[in-house]
Amino acid sequence: MSEDLVLVINSGSSSIKYQLLDPETSAVAASGMVERIGEAEGGIEHKADGKTVEHRGPIADHTAGLRLVFDMFAETGHDLASEGVHAVGHRVVHGGEVFYRPTLIDDGVVEAISELSSLAPLHNPANVAGIESARELLPGVPQVAVFDTAFFHGLPAAAKTYAIDAKVAAAHGIRRYGFHGTSHEYVSGQAAALLGRDPGALNQIVFHLGNGASASAIRGGNPVDTTMGLTPLEGLVMGTRSGDIDPGIVAHLVRSARMDIDQVDELLNRDSGIKGLSGVNDFRELQRLIDAGDPAARLAYDVYIHRLRRYLGAYLIELGGVDAITFTAGVGENSPQVRADALAGLTRFGIAVDPDRNTAKDRAARRISPLDAEVAVLVVPTNEELAIARAAREVVAAG
Ligand code: ADP
Repeated sequence: MSEDLVLVINSGSSSIKYQLLDPETSAVAASGMVERIGEAEGGIEHKADGKTVEHRGPIADHTAGLRLVFDMFAETGHDLASEGVHAVGHRVVHGGEVFYRPTLIDDGVVEAISELSSLAPLHNPANVAGIESARELLPGVPQVAVFDTAFFHGLPAAAKTYAIDAKVAAAHGIRRYGFHGTSHEYVSGQAAALLGRDPGALNQIVFHLGNGASASAIRGGNPVDTTMGLTPLEGLVMGTRSGDIDPGIVAHLVRSARMDIDQVDELLNRDSGIKGLSGVNDFRELQRLIDAGDPAARLAYDVYIHRLRRYLGAYLIELGGVDAITFTAGVGENSPQVRADALAGLTRFGIAVDPDRNTAKDRAARRISPLDAEVAVLVVPTNEELAIARAAREVVAAG
């Protein structure tokens, strides 16, 4: 039966990632991904009970994709349409000023998420497509939106305000919103649990290092700063995104390179970061190029680490000292090299990484600093799907 399970949907412009899971036990009943929606040849990979079922062929839109997914669920023992699910949790990228907690979806909420598309043109329309498809295919099942920006809603004014003309900023919703909030909230909570400490009593820095990457400074469970801003482009160097640049570069590219604004946007979002500097965006490939002596790959890595350390220093000062530094997501969980280089030479600040603990082949949440070090350095696997499923269940329970 699927009644206790929550279906989590993360809908992109041409893809849908999904997971059917038990928010109580975190057990995953099934998961998968729809890819290349709207292209000549789409694909679905669906995993359930250790088996993988595949589909190849054109997938016209998100609803067609989800319909195929529901057929695959039925084939593998979860007939969602007839047995039902407890709730559907949707990851929504931008909540703007409007949404700062998980929200039960109705027509008005869909409309409001849609209206926020000017702030997240690549993401919110795709999220709305996923929501509308799921509502159509599972009428009567409560649907909950969980926002990537929500955790950072209460950032202090000094941290969220850009120093530009205040009237222009107000007219266009320009402020720092922050993203990856579901991950930063979940991981900082797990870090406190691992240390057996009350989150309210801890100063934490979290590095979420995946394809997208962000850092946050958290005091007593509340974020006081984060690296992403109006959009997920600001801050750390990422797989294909530049992170921080001089905003004057944009005007220079428009005037001197005669790029139009969409080309600049594409350059900074898709052809910059690790990829722009080295030609590859996957960190494992970058590591192989570095090992082979490629100087561009080396420079890309050095720029990546330099930016990380710049924010580490900023957040140490903002927090006035830190109790825990936690690494998460693809690179953060899997690259001992990045963790060691990010924190090298900081023993005078009580920060150190134990080489054996750092390189141990362990997937679980763990401490990698020496036990007597003042600052706990941790690796905590993120689990945004579980956090979204739990949030959805709570919203439904609250009515
Ligand atoms: P997303 O932001 O898409 O969710 P992930 O959190 O899955 O990204 O992280 C993807 C990144 O993690 C990629 O750059 C990938 O190369 C990197 N990664 C995954 N496994 C390893 C590994 N064993 N060593 C180094 N990097 C890894």
